[in-house]
Amino acid sequence: MTQGDLPHAVDVLVVGGGVTGAGVLRDLARRGLRSLLVERGDYGTGTTGRYHGLLHSGGRYVGRDQVAARECIVENRVLRRIAPASIEDTGGYFVATPDDPEEYVEAFPGRCATAGVPCEEVPIADLLPREPALSRRIRRAFRVPDGSIEPWQLIDATLADARLHGSDAVPYQRVVGFELRGGRIVAARLRDEGSGSERTVWTSFVVSAAGAWAGQIAALAHVQVEMTPGKGTMLVYNNRMTDSVINRCHASSDADIMVPVHTVAILGTTDVKVPDPDDIAVRREEVAALVAEGARMFPDLPRMRILRAYTGVRPLYRPPVDPAGGGNRAITRAHAVLDHAGQGVENFVSIVGGKLTTHRLMAEETVDAVAAKLGVAAPCTTADEVLPDQGDGRTYWLGHRLAEHEERGGGDADLLCECELVTRDAAEAYLDRRWPCSLDDMRRGTRLGMGPCQGAFCTFRAAGLIAERRGGDTDADAAAAEDHAALADRALTGFLRERFRGTGPVASGRQLQELLVTAGMYVGVLGLDSLVEPETVKRTAVEPSAVVPAPGGGAAGARAFEGAATAATAGPTPGAADAQR
Ligand SMILES: Cc1cc2nc3c(=O)[nH]c(=O)nc-3n(C[C@H](O)[C@H](O)[C@H](O)COP(=O)(O)OP(=O)(O)OC[C@H]3O[C@@H](n4cnc5c(N)ncnc54)[C@H](O)[C@@H]3O)c2cc1C
Repeated sequence: MTQGDLPHAVDVLVVGGGVTGAGVLRDLARRGLRSLLVERGDYGTGTTGRYHGLLHSGGRYVGRDQVAARECIVENRVLRRIAPASIEDTGGYFVATPDDPEEYVEAFPGRCATAGVPCEEVPIADLLPREPALSRRIRRAFRVPDGSIEPWQLIDATLADARLHGSDAVPYQRVVGFELRGGRIVAARLRDEGSGSERTVWTSFVVSAAGAWAGQIAALAHVQVEMTPGKGTMLVYNNRMTDSVINRCHASSDADIMVPVHTVAILGTTDVKVPDPDDIAVRREEVAALVAEGARMFPDLPRMRILRAYTGVRPLYRPPVDPAGGGNRAITRAHAVLDHAGQGVENFVSIVGGKLTTHRLMAEETVDAVAAKLGVAAPCTTADEVLPDQGDGRTYWLGHRLAEHEERGGGDADLLCECELVTRDAAEAYLDRRWPCSLDDMRRGTRLGMGPCQGAFCTFRAAGLIAERRGGDTDADAAAAEDHAALADRALTGFLRERFRGTGPVASGRQLQELLVTAGMYVGVLGLDSLVEPETVKRTAVEPSAVVPAPGGGAAGARAFEGAATAATAGPTPGAADAQR
């Protein structure tokens, strides 16, 4: 859908195309409310696309937030039932290192039992052969039903269900204002982020599912929502050093979870209060601190190759009187539905806080509030009905793409991305569904470029596919369509800029060598730097101050990469998003 196709009026307008907004749209649609979701970027380019990837069992919260823990285990089971295609059933362990307090470890199984989180102690002698990268100093381990969950597939399937029930969603539409009359929002002004044009959509109700940006959306309706955005940094390693989620058995802190995500493993996270949810820069010091702390669970981490660093911003909400007090980790990870009638706007609610794991429940409670206000009696059905596009109804496993590929005859002739096994057919199918879109959108939809080579060898191939697409079927469309080569060039620079972000702070050793090969291919061979108009050249997120000598790499090498990356990826590209997983 483009801006020109937007409906003139809807029952409910949902702001924000992360997992929460998608869940809200699905629930509204299933209760018969004709709704529209608008997202300022691509779907899942806010916190949902920059999270850690854990389907929580609840074990992480049993120590300090039993409500959050209970919600997690209930929704964990629901998601396994309704969205198996987005989940890898890795299982998880809480492991006690010598540094973890004995009383926490001792109390852990009992606290899990209170919250309803299945927890079983396993002998270390059984665990270490399964997880050989783990520290030999681990003294106890508990198995819990954690998993790994893929956000973009989940959003896609959730939106598909909403569409089947008569609602719709549109990306790259930013809400820039509301029109209020008599204490009600009657319309929203949307700006198309590609063309800059604006349109008005009339609505009976507004739900803000804008996550860490909820305060900004509320301000457009002249109400106050105090968010306390908490930035978390994560590191993507080039191999999957663990097959299960590994958590440290202590009160949650920095660098204490490793999550296997497809072909890589992600270490996280930090939690730093930031004034601006768009503050997603990563510094080398954070990377070094994460590696040092993570090495208590995985002692070889300092010698392993980090592909990239990225950050997400938690949509933490601080109620007017914060019963928790303390720092950001003390604010509840549970959620809140805020009805803004008390602040003078009758038909406006915000959903804040929570986790990806609990998004469906958050949506249910939000839509209960909306339905009550609109006099709609239809019950929520989202926990019972399986989402569309769930394949054979089983959770995925690491080798599922390879197995499917081999079933179709195997071979590598049709492979665009060897790391993530993205075939030409899969990429074409994505483009059929989402065109016009960027290569970066295609990455989220297919995982192209997200494996160990980070797009070095697939990006130019995928750019060729983009180049083959023309604007539309009619002569007028074709005339207006971009020139093939220019289209491919733009797709390439946008995609590489996105991939190079987050590589500066980890550019050292073997990874620096790989980055220089990539930069050499795209700058040295393909001359990508010559595509950029001089006046549009601007820096990437690589901070010069962050370029310090690193083991096996060195400042000179890092600077060389920085220069190449900057040249290769400078300039604005419509549709390009910030650094993500
Ligand atoms: C570091 C980190 C790690 C995490 N790890 C986990 C985990 O492992 N497991 C788990 O369950 N949860 C995890 N979470 C929490 C989880 O990621 C979030 O709770 C969830 O993704 C929030 O989704 P959302 O849809 O509410 O927000 P978002 O995904 O941020 O969506 C809000 C959307 O609103 C859009 N928007 C903003 N302004 C406008 C506007 N003016 N117009 C239109 N659209 C707008 C944004 O672009 C954004 O896409 C983690 C969070 C962080 C930060």
